[in-house]
Amino acid sequence: MKEKLLTGIGFDVHRLIKGRKLILGGMEIPYHKGLLGHSDGDVLSHAISDAILTAAGLNDIGVLFPDTNPEYKNISSIIILNQVLKLITKKHLKLVNISAVLICEAPKLNPYFPEIKKNLARVLGLTPEKIGLSAKTTETLIFNPRKEAIAALAISLLRG
Ligand code: MG
Repeated sequence: MKEKLLTGIGFDVHRLIKGRKLILGGMEIPYHKGLLGHSDGDVLSHAISDAILTAAGLNDIGVLFPDTNPEYKNISSIIILNQVLKLITKKHLKLVNISAVLICEAPKLNPYFPEIKKNLARVLGLTPEKIGLSAKTTETLIFNPRKEAIAALAISLLRG
């Protein structure tokens, strides 16, 4: 049978507030604010999860892991990513690579990319080189001028 390649895109945004840990790609980032969410608010893992799910033609994490379900309260988004991988494996699909952009005015995220890549690679069964990460501000324009949120965009490639 001919091999097929599938791409998917995911987007997410969470509010930054005091009194929460900042978790991105399953790693804790030192900062005086964290992302608000029903889960741990890991905007990067959420965008990546949706990129993988939509490539496979599956529902997004809002449908699969609804924030109305108390079971998912404060859940680590790495657990969500694990379940997403199980779902695509069931469809005989394999993740090839991920590329993601984090959009925020603060904190500076690039110094943490090696660690985040290593962690995501372990979870996703990829080598760190297959995880592309970049960070962008919007020059305090368009999005988030008061540093109140972090957004993430991700794309995935699946092979099946
Ligand atoms: Mg989310």
